[in-house]
Amino acid sequence: MKRPSMRMASIINFVWVALLVAIIGWGGLTWDGGGKPIESDWPAITQMVAEGDVEQINIVNKELAEVKLTEKAIEEYSQQDEYKKIPRYGEFQFYCTIPSVDAVREDLAEIQQQSGNNTPVKYEIRSDRWMNIIGSLIPWILIIGFWVFMMRSARGGGGGGNVMNVGKARAQVYDKDNTENRVTFKDVAGLEEAKQEIMEIVDFLRRPQKYRELGGKIPKGALLAGPPGTGKTMLAKAVAGEANVPFLSISGSDFVEMFVGVGASRVRDLFQQAKEKAPCIVFIDEIDAIGRARGKNAGFSGNDERENTLNQILTEMDGFATNSGVIVLAATNRADILDKALMRAGRFDRQIEVGLPDVKEREAIFGVHTRKLRCAPGISHEFLAKQTAGFSGADIANVCNEAALIAARHDKKQITKEEFLAAIDRIVGGLEKKNTVMSAKERYATAIHEAGHAAVMWLLPESDPVVKVTIIPRGRSLGATWYLPEERVHVTSGNLRQRMSGMVAGRVAEQTFLGTIGTGALNDLERTSNMAYSMVAFYGMSERVGNVSYYDSTGQRDAFTKPFSEQTAREIDEEVRRLIDEATEEARRLIEANREKVERLAKLLVEKETVFAEDIEAIFGRSASEERKAAETAEATAASTEGVVENEPAPKAVPAPEATDNAEEQSEVVATAE
Ligand code: ADP
Ligand code: ZN
Repeated sequence: MKRPSMRMASIINFVWVALLVAIIGWGGLTWDGGGKPIESDWPAITQMVAEGDVEQINIVNKELAEVKLTEKAIEEYSQQDEYKKIPRYGEFQFYCTIPSVDAVREDLAEIQQQSGNNTPVKYEIRSDRWMNIIGSLIPWILIIGFWVFMMRSARGGGGGGNVMNVGKARAQVYDKDNTENRVTFKDVAGLEEAKQEIMEIVDFLRRPQKYRELGGKIPKGALLAGPPGTGKTMLAKAVAGEANVPFLSISGSDFVEMFVGVGASRVRDLFQQAKEKAPCIVFIDEIDAIGRARGKNAGFSGNDERENTLNQILTEMDGFATNSGVIVLAATNRADILDKALMRAGRFDRQIEVGLPDVKEREAIFGVHTRKLRCAPGISHEFLAKQTAGFSGADIANVCNEAALIAARHDKKQITKEEFLAAIDRIVGGLEKKNTVMSAKERYATAIHEAGHAAVMWLLPESDPVVKVTIIPRGRSLGATWYLPEERVHVTSGNLRQRMSGMVAGRVAEQTFLGTIGTGALNDLERTSNMAYSMVAFYGMSERVGNVSYYDSTGQRDAFTKPFSEQTAREIDEEVRRLIDEATEEARRLIEANREKVERLAKLLVEKETVFAEDIEAIFGRSASEERKAAETAEATAASTEGVVENEPAPKAVPAPEATDNAEEQSEVVATAE
């Protein structure tokens, strides 16, 4: 950290000097010359009053008496040795503390009775002058203090520079020669898919020539999406480390400050720095702090500033030439709330999922983090991985560190299993509040649910091929079955029914194996109901309601008036219910018939957390959809050898209905998440 700049220091000094001068000046102005009154006591004073020497008495704050002598008395007193130092020209000559105001009053009345001297008495309340001065200065001190604080925080966390530097980006820069902090792929355990995707970027940076010669465009940005602590920052650093280029790191929240326009100018500055250092990696952590979708909750102040910052990022990313060698990596755990404009081509057009690690990955992460620890021989990483379901990489790093601390506390020479388990317990305690760790029972329930989806989808020929099944929590979902929707142009009602069976299968499996049902199926049921409703009310797929569609492609019908009668509404309801019931029955039939296999799949899931198509095939045999496709190809070849002229393979020959817009996106891997 740098010292505060000269400019700042001189401002602070000036403020202090000004304060001092003001205080001293004030004190001097109100100072009264003439010497100090002499301390005395009340009986002595009454004596003076009785003798008629006192011109006036002031009772201050009900505790002090100030005594002014008559001029004659002053003359007399000053002659005496005892009172040589009497302040002749002062306002008062004596002072003393009084027993009480009442006593003073009584004494004076008595004296008056006896001697006839009537001495005027004044009562006053006087507050301390110094307290007064300080009291009146406090607001000023506060104001000046606040101002200084603003200046400092504007400069940001004590970093260098002065007020003029507000708009400078405060990126942390790791230069390529900094071998000490260099992170490489070796340090990142697991995350194989993410590493593979990001390898490409390393290659771009290492050998840009290769791509340029071919006329290819080097990507400008990639988004690393995943929960906190899963190694997104590490991965970005590893890219820089592997490509041996500088790494500029900044957090999204650094852009958002209280001064208008600061965010945008920081962005400008950041990209300026990056271009000077190119080729390099710019890493923006927590990009959701600025990249949240624009226009939502408009009307709150501060929003504008964020929008300006976001716009500036977009402008900068569009602005630099594709081959300038600056690659922007951004991390977020809320990819869903990001502004879509960020994801457009030429910006963060690649999204790399960085999820929570599964058993095997956790084992590898333990491997990385125990490397530097002195562990007792025979500690099994596999065992530790099994104990830490739901942990992120950062949690595991934490466990390892905690275990070392516990061992040190107990004066052990090596870290044993015992310390690891104690550390895991401690960290689970912290995690459970964040609601990521499932109990064994919950894990089994999730596994049964997912196994149900996977089994039914596997066994129905028209449903989409399952790619992988996992019980690793992700966002708010507990597990997911990933499938690859086929690109169908023509979707039949049989097709939709089978898909519905696959969707309700999770709930059915819970009923069959556990006897209880959970709230986890909300999303499944919502999608099933939507699909059934679309079939009946939009696609005319119910005989009872008939070939009518209440779909409103213009989107102009208002939402309150239904285009059908009460009677039809009831019929639609009943038909929707029937379709869902039938789909549920079908799922139940399949699950009952394959009870033992579904259970086996669930157990495998509990053990391995992520299960791929091969594993499912090992249990259930070839999937029904593959059988179907094989049969179709065989038919097609048979048909062509028979000489029947067909322009296109069968499924594509049918004209496309425009009616698939209510189905989910068809082009990518989709998960049934709960
Ligand atoms: P994120 O940016 O996703 O929040 P980080 O990259 O900052 O997470 O990771 C925090 C720490 O967790 C890292 O410094 C590292 O010690 C540990 N960690 C996370 N994931 C991994 C992993 N896959 N392999 C090894 N260590 C990891
Ligand atoms: Zn489900």
